[in-house]
Amino acid sequence: MADLAFPVPEPVLVPVRGGGFFPVRRIYCVGRNYAEHIREMGNDEREPPFFFDKPADAVLIDGAPMSYPPETADLHHEIELVVAIGRDGSDIAVGDALDHVFAYGAGLDMTRRDLQAVAKKAGRPWTFAKGFDQSAPLGVLVRVDEIGHPQAGAITLAVNGAERQRGDLADQIWSVPETIAYLSRYVALRAGDLIMTGTPAGVGAVVRGDVLEGHIAGIGPVSTVIV
Ligand code: MN
Repeated sequence: MADLAFPVPEPVLVPVRGGGFFPVRRIYCVGRNYAEHIREMGNDEREPPFFFDKPADAVLIDGAPMSYPPETADLHHEIELVVAIGRDGSDIAVGDALDHVFAYGAGLDMTRRDLQAVAKKAGRPWTFAKGFDQSAPLGVLVRVDEIGHPQAGAITLAVNGAERQRGDLADQIWSVPETIAYLSRYVALRAGDLIMTGTPAGVGAVVRGDVLEGHIAGIGPVSTVIV
């Protein structure tokens, strides 16, 4: 037994529909992937994709309350399709990319929009805007064996029962296979990696007491309450 300075942290385990758990290694996120959301943020939809990340332990298991984070007054919701990688790979071809997907889920890329605006203006990293504690509420993962690879269908988010975001997976600028292929040119993907694939239009602020309910057709829900 190694002489550990402290106990090894508990692994981050996401429930999988039908049983079992998905151990999370890394979380990559696509910055912009739906044309309408790019327009609402004032950007050019023809730019190539870019990525940022969240720590694995930013995951908040479905239904658990999210504490309003410190050092922000503008916490935003972003509903996203989450791709769960189940097979290692580097420099993956677009045509082979879906073979690396184990499951899909609905997730929330919670964002400190005020800190992101400051970081953008200063050309600084987005760590404090995107990678904070509990910044990735994640629904139960659904196996590819069960649902295949959804390429179209509604992706929505409601706050206190009122719809705020609506898009369609078919409107993603970079498809899931393209995203996996592109990302795997830059980093070695491993089983346990999650990819959050960007949000449709309608992002906005939430406050304490708000109930967030996201849904992706054929995949399922993600929910949390801000406390
Ligand atoms: Mn996002």
